[in-house]
Amino acid sequence: MAITSFNPPVRTLMGPGPSDVHPRVTGAMARPTIGHLDPAFVGMMDEVKTMLQYAFQTKNQLTIPVSAPGSAGMETTFQNLLERGDKAIVCQNGVFGGRMKEVVERCGATAIMVEDDWGKPVDPDKLEEALKANPDAKVVAFVHAETSTGVQSDARLLCEIARRFDCLTIVDAVTSLGGTPIRVDEWKIDAIYSGTQKCLSCTPGLSPVSFSDRAVDVIKARTHPVQSWFLDLNLVMGYWGSGQAKRAYHHTAPINSLYALHEALVLLQEEGLENAWARHEMNHRALRAGLEAMGLSFLVAEDYRLPQLNAVNIPEGVDEAAVRNKLLSDYSLEIGAGLGTLAGKVWRIGLMGHTSDMKNVMYCLGALEAVLMEMNAPIETGAITAAQQAVA
Ligand code: PLP
Repeated sequence: MAITSFNPPVRTLMGPGPSDVHPRVTGAMARPTIGHLDPAFVGMMDEVKTMLQYAFQTKNQLTIPVSAPGSAGMETTFQNLLERGDKAIVCQNGVFGGRMKEVVERCGATAIMVEDDWGKPVDPDKLEEALKANPDAKVVAFVHAETSTGVQSDARLLCEIARRFDCLTIVDAVTSLGGTPIRVDEWKIDAIYSGTQKCLSCTPGLSPVSFSDRAVDVIKARTHPVQSWFLDLNLVMGYWGSGQAKRAYHHTAPINSLYALHEALVLLQEEGLENAWARHEMNHRALRAGLEAMGLSFLVAEDYRLPQLNAVNIPEGVDEAAVRNKLLSDYSLEIGAGLGTLAGKVWRIGLMGHTSDMKNVMYCLGALEAVLMEMNAPIETGAITAAQQAVA
């Protein structure tokens, strides 16, 4: 049989990402491809950098999108800041802290782990103890918004502690950027990375990063070159460098993906960052009221819950995979499964970026209620009314 064009089904993406892409973003992506050194393109690159500074709330000059997904942003921060023999304190309270450990070790550095239960935030006291026990640590790394559990850690406090011990900080903001407050300059974060596919309403495949001047000085003073040629920021800056300097070819930029990011950031500016955070919070409140009215509960204590990623305990006796499959087949609605130790224990319902919308909250609650009722799960009705009342 001849293979023909691929036409994906239209889904509502309410899992841990990717989330729904705004139609203006997909529209921007379809614009004509031009050269990566075309003056028109170079002008757009500067605008992307300026708008990323706004999204991260920073004046950091080194604020760019890495041409690859969030994991490449993670690699960029660790590979550029760590050298063989260095020591990094990695806080782990879910899947992505574990990935950080692997990356640290592949840099030839040592990872000192500070572990917390999955579903709990990073414990600042444990970090402080680890710093006292390891005065030679160079870096403290943690995940701001743990997508695997729906937990938010106190980035401001963790960075403050790290700074007291003269450590650089690396913050994973893949799921937080655009969805919940991040203030890179105010919180004195040294290196931060994110992804485009979550709260920015954009397509997957790019990783915004930002580095403080202090971090840039460390990168410039390295004794050995960064192991990865592609991610070596000393080289990448030849292409993404300051507006006046002549740009040189480093790699062929993903032109159309950058149009998409540009449009997503224009959308963020139009809405206003604080309004975007408030929208995520409000839709979370509605979803939460609806789920609780059904009798469902959350994995994470209220104070640490991420508005954009809701980890919901699976009721007794319910076949969680069957529920997800039915939501996908009958309602074209994707919600996420549990990851790692939470596999089979929670669903992860995302309300990120363009997905974070009251219409999707209502759609998800209605579909979930219908599916659970059909499976004779022990739930109550009235979720839609409860959700509506929570934000009335
Ligand atoms: N860090 C966190 C917290 C994530 O949620 C993800 C992806 O879901 C990543 C890192 C990796 O990003 P990507 O899948 O875009 O490589």
